[in-house]
Amino acid sequence: MNSTFRLNIDLDVDGRHDGYLNVKRTTELSPFGCSMIPISSIRNGDGPCVVVIGGCHGDEYEGQFLARRLLDTVEVESLCGQLIVLPAANAEAVRVGQRFSPADNGNLNTVFPGKEKGTATECVAHFIETVLMSRAELVVDIHGGGRHVNYFSSAMISGAVSGDRRSRVIELTKALGLPVAFFVDEEDYSSSSLLGACDRAGVMNISAEIGGGTVDVPTLDEAHKGLMRLLHRVGVLCDAPQRLLQTLPSCVDCRSVQPFSRQRAVCSNRGFESVTVSRKIN
Ligand SMILES: [Zn+2]
Repeated sequence: MNSTFRLNIDLDVDGRHDGYLNVKRTTELSPFGCSMIPISSIRNGDGPCVVVIGGCHGDEYEGQFLARRLLDTVEVESLCGQLIVLPAANAEAVRVGQRFSPADNGNLNTVFPGKEKGTATECVAHFIETVLMSRAELVVDIHGGGRHVNYFSSAMISGAVSGDRRSRVIELTKALGLPVAFFVDEEDYSSSSLLGACDRAGVMNISAEIGGGTVDVPTLDEAHKGLMRLLHRVGVLCDAPQRLLQTLPSCVDCRSVQPFSRQRAVCSNRGFESVTVSRKIN
């Protein structure tokens, strides 16, 4: 089954634009079916561009809530650059609350760089890698534990980043302020993941794992403040309410570790400690 896609908003125009990435797909019910992936662009002149992604996996609600909340919070006038938000990046999976898309059984985090005329999920990956990556300075990809795992809120950074960009992404991760942050070594993630796509494009990436199981409102509140601090620190949010910026980042240090085996040393505001990460993130 081949699909093509069309974006119904112009990412180069100032102002707020809410629309869809329309991905054609033939279904049992219609030869002219379409997956509609919501996308919003808020742009105010030249400046850094940040892409925020939620709903890469449909049963992980925290990223979807946080992306929507950003759209409810950020005003055009408060920006110096562009914020692009995909609150339900794998929209078919989000609609049914499942990890993979029921349209093609696609796991968006394993199909990069995607295909222009691939399955629906491959088309979304292709759009993100070819259209969004070319303009982004930073991609923030927010995951959660889904139905079966509850994660200690954590931020992950590509271990492939070096030099000034490494210093910069550490600074930004500290601004996000999740209790735990660590580098992911290259051998521990796939080139077909969003992290791999960011490496190819030379784009900074911060991936977050926040909660899972039952959505925790206080955790979401802290994560929202962290996202606002992050947007402020990267320079895209020039004007933000002080109440959203004043919480001090809790991540005080970062060091390279190998994640995803049973015991990993990570940094937190309580110093280095060991945590159990229950499964590899795909
Ligand atoms: Zn996920």
